Amino acid sequence: MDAEQLWQEVLSQIKPNISQANFATWFNNTRIESIEDEGVIVAVPNSFAKEWLEQKYHKDILKILYSLDSNIKNISYTVVPVSATKKIQKKEEKKTDVLAEQLGFSELDVDKDTNLNPKYTFDNFITGPFNEMAYAASMAIIEEPGKSYNPLFIYGGVGLGKTHLIQATGNKIKEKFPDKKIKYIPAEKLISTIVNAIRNQNIEELKRRLREIDLLIVDDIQFIAGKDKTQEEFFHTFNSLYQKNKQIILSSDRHPNNIPAITERLKSRFEGGMIADINMPDFETRLAILKQKSEEKGVIIQEDILEFVANNIQKNIRELESALNRLVIYKKANKELLLEDAKKILKSIISPVMKVTSHKKIIDTITSFYDIQGGNMFTTSRKKEFSKPRQIAMYLIKKELKMSYSEIGRKFGGKDHTTVIHACQLVEKSYQEDEQTRQEIDLILQRIYSE
Ligand code: ADP
Ligand code: MG
Repeated sequence: MDAEQLWQEVLSQIKPNISQANFATWFNNTRIESIEDEGVIVAVPNSFAKEWLEQKYHKDILKILYSLDSNIKNISYTVVPVSATKKIQKKEEKKTDVLAEQLGFSELDVDKDTNLNPKYTFDNFITGPFNEMAYAASMAIIEEPGKSYNPLFIYGGVGLGKTHLIQATGNKIKEKFPDKKIKYIPAEKLISTIVNAIRNQNIEELKRRLREIDLLIVDDIQFIAGKDKTQEEFFHTFNSLYQKNKQIILSSDRHPNNIPAITERLKSRFEGGMIADINMPDFETRLAILKQKSEEKGVIIQEDILEFVANNIQKNIRELESALNRLVIYKKANKELLLEDAKKILKSIISPVMKVTSHKKIIDTITSFYDIQGGNMFTTSRKKEFSKPRQIAMYLIKKELKMSYSEIGRKFGGKDHTTVIHACQLVEKSYQEDEQTRQEIDLILQRIYSE
């Protein structure tokens, strides 16, 4: 059976067992990306589908695949945006380098040698308490590559400047040490390069080339999770570079401890140098970023508007930028931009589309997410497998529906309002502090509003 048939078979077995809406939400635009020695790589259209398949359907999918082909022992999921999937389907015969396209390699300004994009520099990089550690570590590396922190591992949420920082560092080192061999590689590209090299039996050649590098920068290394072959090869490359005091810089959307399915030895390598995080910038820094970026664009936007944006857009720098872009375009076209205009222009970014849900929907989603019987939501059982979903349900009903604590207590079989308050505080705390819980709750929310 080829990949296509294999996946069709999986889909046809899953479909009758889940709701149509679920099927459409989580399985549309999925396919088998490639089949490797003992596993398959499944392409999914976005990271929610990825996490959802990993968390909810993984066992079922594996069971079916294994029943069809007992060589298949594991599955990993990789995000391939739909546009890229369509392109692949369209161009398959033409053998264009779709992957390169999809990874942004066809971007014209990218340096052919290093893969670095010269647009990322320190001149347009703002520092503040949110990124000062990562920034300072990068500066130390620019001073003496390979000597201070090796590897430098930078992690933080999307849109907070990881790619910008590591590319700027690469560009700076290139400027300072023009003879050094520098390579910037997004992990996804590294993975596909290694997989192809294994398939084409030129892995030795690839290894040799990787080992000649003086500065290796791998972006979004979290994608290596579950990719055993790549981890294996990367581990050896890593050691060889490390032993020769060659600098390695890695970025990830999370701490090495929270990357699932990486081997212990690789994790301890990641942790063996310097780990620095990047957080969300505070209000002052957000304002500074907006000021600098509007200056770069040659447009002056009044202070109260910038403050409005800095106050209301707190997710990441990329969103700040896109909000600013909208304002800049408006201002250029209309000459005048008032706070009232700005509020209108940014309305759709700032106040999310009206959300509607019900406590029943929240409870149902959570019981199915954690695979528990609905009735267990309303018992007094203290077993964690029931108490956790129950507490999350209370928390989300409070948060999303603004119901009173006593009312929520009544919905959960007449619990006291103090019990509900306690539950909400507990969940809020773990939402803040525990990556796993945060991911679960975000997935649940996505699910609640996706149907
Ligand atoms: P990440 O890799 O963490 O997802 P990026 O590096 O792609 O984030 O940053 C998102 C956008 O925000 C980019 O356009 C980048 O230039 C800009 N940006 C990020 N951090 C900063 C910063 N400290 N100063 C100025 N611009 C920044
Ligand atoms: Mg990035």
